[in-house]
Amino acid sequence: MNTGTDYITLFNADIDMVFGDIVKTCFRQPSLLKFFVQTAARQKKAARLRQHWEEKGVHVPPLIIASITDRCNLKCSHCYARAHNREPRPELTGDRWAEVFSQAAGLGVSIIMLAGGEPFVRPEFLDNTRNYPELIFPVFTNGLLLKDGLTAELKKQRHVIPILSIEGFEQATDERRGGGVYRVLRQAIDRLEDQGLFFGVSLTLTRANFSSLTGDEFVRSLVDSGCRVFIYVEYTPIEDNTADMVLTSEQKAGIDSLRRRLRSRYNAVFVAFPGDETPYGGCLAAGRGFIHIGPDGSLEPCPFAPFSDTNVAKMSLRDALESEFLAKLREGHDKLTETEGGCELWANREWVASLLHRKTKPPAS
Ligand code: SF4
Repeated sequence: MNTGTDYITLFNADIDMVFGDIVKTCFRQPSLLKFFVQTAARQKKAARLRQHWEEKGVHVPPLIIASITDRCNLKCSHCYARAHNREPRPELTGDRWAEVFSQAAGLGVSIIMLAGGEPFVRPEFLDNTRNYPELIFPVFTNGLLLKDGLTAELKKQRHVIPILSIEGFEQATDERRGGGVYRVLRQAIDRLEDQGLFFGVSLTLTRANFSSLTGDEFVRSLVDSGCRVFIYVEYTPIEDNTADMVLTSEQKAGIDSLRRRLRSRYNAVFVAFPGDETPYGGCLAAGRGFIHIGPDGSLEPCPFAPFSDTNVAKMSLRDALESEFLAKLREGHDKLTETEGGCELWANREWVASLLHRKTKPPAS
């Protein structure tokens, strides 16, 4: 079990591999190919910068998941953002996010995943992303706001990559997301393809939809529409009484070989979240591989673990990363090495919450 820091080398190598794979999917699109070859080089430079900070005692994760709003134009069933039943949080200003992006670039963060709620209810974030081409911004969106104006702006910002949430074909998607959503989503996909934009999809894998979402008919329909990245997110039972939606152990155990099989068959990249974390010694949350920043700036171990003791509204990203709570989580990592898929932080949420209250020094004021 890789519980030391070697997992960092392995995780960096896997990030390189994903970008190397993305380059291969763009061989027929010279401008995208050039962009991703540059991006792959930038990823290596960012990893060296992180190593520089590691030597200074500051652990910098390659990935940040930034939920820039709780607001959304949909009310999907089993929505993670709403499953925590909390009031919409006050939102950091665009200027404050710009400072966070700048600090992240300076620390060697590679990827900032923009999420929500629906990030495009705050399209002004594109005024900030424009200034940080060295960062990759996958934007997890329901796609309904991706009209001509936005896609034209995205064409100028290749480092901002739309990742559209979809549940399958029309019936499955409309059942979870609402009537008519699939038709609008397909129009957005066609628009992105017409513009020659690099984009992907995000798919929440449940016990029931596993075979349809990983099946040839569905995967081919998206690859033929220009989709180049498939992000499979394993369902986490945040909502009460939904444990029966979680993947079976056979399904979880088969995800990695399935991804390789799909990659060998289609011109696209297949990623699983959290996927098999065994090689990394278990859960990559709490800064090991990624952290989550909430709309109000709270720095959390993961979107599924809404606990924090630092906030980038009040302090620099570097200081927030030196969170005592996150350090305790990493120290107690042996509790999070059960890598049967799904979310270990959520499975151990009582222990996680207890760490927050077992403080040795007063919380940052
Ligand atoms: S689009 Fe996303 S954030 Fe909005 S309701 Fe649906 S699942 Fe929740």
